[in-house]
Amino acid sequence: MPKNRDRLLRALFQEAPEGIVIADKERRIVDINAAFTALLGYTLDEIEGQPTSVLYADTLDFETTGQSVFSEKGPSTPDENVLYQRYKRRDGSILNARTLAIRLLDEAGEVHGFAGRIHDLDALLPDAEKSVSRLEAERALLEALYRKTPAMLFSADQNGRIENISDALAVRLGMSGADALGHLWTEFLMEPDRNEAARLMDQVVSNGICKRAPYRFCGKNGSLVECELSAIVNATKGRQNLLVILDDVTARNRAQKRLESRSDEIRQFARIAAHDLRTPLRHISLFAEEVNRAVTAAGLSDVADDVNVIRESANRLASMVQSLLEFSVASDHSITPGRVDLGQVMERVLQTHADDIAASEAKMEIAELPVITCDAVLIERVFDNLLANALKYVAPKTRPHIQVTAQKLPASWVLEVQDNGIGISPAFRRRIFDPLTRLHSPDSFYPGNGIGLSLAQRIVEAHGGKIWVDAGEDGGSVFHVELPSHL
Ligand code: ADP
Repeated sequence: MPKNRDRLLRALFQEAPEGIVIADKERRIVDINAAFTALLGYTLDEIEGQPTSVLYADTLDFETTGQSVFSEKGPSTPDENVLYQRYKRRDGSILNARTLAIRLLDEAGEVHGFAGRIHDLDALLPDAEKSVSRLEAERALLEALYRKTPAMLFSADQNGRIENISDALAVRLGMSGADALGHLWTEFLMEPDRNEAARLMDQVVSNGICKRAPYRFCGKNGSLVECELSAIVNATKGRQNLLVILDDVTARNRAQKRLESRSDEIRQFARIAAHDLRTPLRHISLFAEEVNRAVTAAGLSDVADDVNVIRESANRLASMVQSLLEFSVASDHSITPGRVDLGQVMERVLQTHADDIAASEAKMEIAELPVITCDAVLIERVFDNLLANALKYVAPKTRPHIQVTAQKLPASWVLEVQDNGIGISPAFRRRIFDPLTRLHSPDSFYPGNGIGLSLAQRIVEAHGGKIWVDAGEDGGSVFHVELPSHL
């Protein structure tokens, strides 16, 4: 057993990564390990029994070591026996080293020798230097980022005290970066938002992140700075830091509000205008009819034709105004959702168009349709329009063939209305959804006001869905309506 232990200790000594030298109490070399040979170039045969002074670059190093480690008292703390010395290698070159000197005691507690563990400082230093300069470079980069970035950001300690702030943010709030340091960031919020901020911070600390929370900051002279706040918590070595990035949405919110009130005004104006236009248009139409009767009776058939044109134009205008009015009312209509069987919706639509279907001998193929959450009245309008168009936009003497199918996607249904009609050229497949856009003149074979599809689009989008058109497989068109399965 002791033999095994000796072998093990010997191996540990020989294989140790640092150079080890053992000396007796007269400071004569007794043993060295392989790492020592690698560091200083001596083999044991060459220096065994020699005084340790042969190892030092000058006598001062030798003496300092002696005073500190080999004095009668010896080192009192482990730190005291760490020495920084210069050794001389076998080839005369110098080794800057850090030595840990250990006094070896016998069973009676008497010093009987010394061991030195030697580390090559030149091998250790570059790494340390590299880390220091890397840290300095990173700090300089971070500082440059805070000074130069156009982004509004700050970092705070775990109590919310600002530790660094970008110049862009300081300027936006009307102060210098130095003014903000050490202040609680919540001090710069508008009063009503402060309590909420405390709650948010608890949340950020527990979740580690917060994205785009709306906050109102107090800018220069008390002006309002509306921001979306995103924050992350960084925890290192028991310290929690907060990094906050602000997106200034003041201008965007203002523009949005302006736009909303402008569209309200426009909608109101359109409604009033459309409503008020109806009466004079009815009068034009009625009086044109009167005039038409009178001139026909007087045998003035040329004039009667002209008057007829006036009357038809007035009627068309009245119908457009009526559609616009319906469009604006339906656009304002808020959704009243419920579980809706689209199969039943389609049956009602087919009823509405029963005469046209019969007259054109249209072939109707309606697949099984799902039950989804939507506004039954509005969605019926969408399918009513798609079916009316599919029946209407067919070439003369063509028997309409209309297929309605449904496809399930993970979170939605796509309903398709396919026809064998005149088709829509790719250049117009988006534009037909704009209000009052028609691909045919009012006098053409295909009557209409160009409102139906724009209304359908509004309704579908209000449900969070999409509507688009493609070419059908054998000519014709396929209208796709994607609606979420649940609202
Ligand atoms: P309207 O039918 O009253 O003109 P819509 O908004 O419903 O208004 O349609 C806009 C235009 O899109 C129509 O004028 C027509 O040119 C085209 N369109 C709509 N549906 C079809 C269809 N199924 N096939 C061919 N063209 C169509």
